[in-house]
Amino acid sequence: MRIGSGYDIHRLVPDRKLFLGGICIPHETGLLGHSDADVLIHAICDALLGAAALGDIGIHFPDTDPKYKDICSVDLLIETNRLIREQGYRLLNLDATIVAQAPKLSPYMEQMKNKLALCMETDSGRINIKATTMEGLGNIGKGEAIAAHCIVLLDS
Ligand code: MG
Repeated sequence: MRIGSGYDIHRLVPDRKLFLGGICIPHETGLLGHSDADVLIHAICDALLGAAALGDIGIHFPDTDPKYKDICSVDLLIETNRLIREQGYRLLNLDATIVAQAPKLSPYMEQMKNKLALCMETDSGRINIKATTMEGLGNIGKGEAIAAHCIVLLDS
């Protein structure tokens, strides 16, 4: 068995759509990045790559490559899943935490889990997503950014 952890943070800015876990969530600001900046998917990709000792998301999908400009992060997760399966690994379970002051994410959790399960060709019962706020503290607490943490366990 192999364990991996991932972390990511992106800035929230006006005039961007907010994507989390492959789902577009209505909000007055969205995450800024070279891709659609889906911070949850980025943390998941890093955890999967970490567990398989395949480096990180920046190595596989460099933000200097125009090919990945505004790419849907779902496509990065599908490719990451392909890479870990190529090495003979499969997901045992995934546990992630989104740190966001707003919006309220509980109405979207099931949709996110189903979408992620589809991308990773697994059962949504292997995926857990939690959300917490920063109680108003720091940049995330002020609504200037969203972060995500993820831990995965793979077996071969
Ligand atoms: Mg990122």
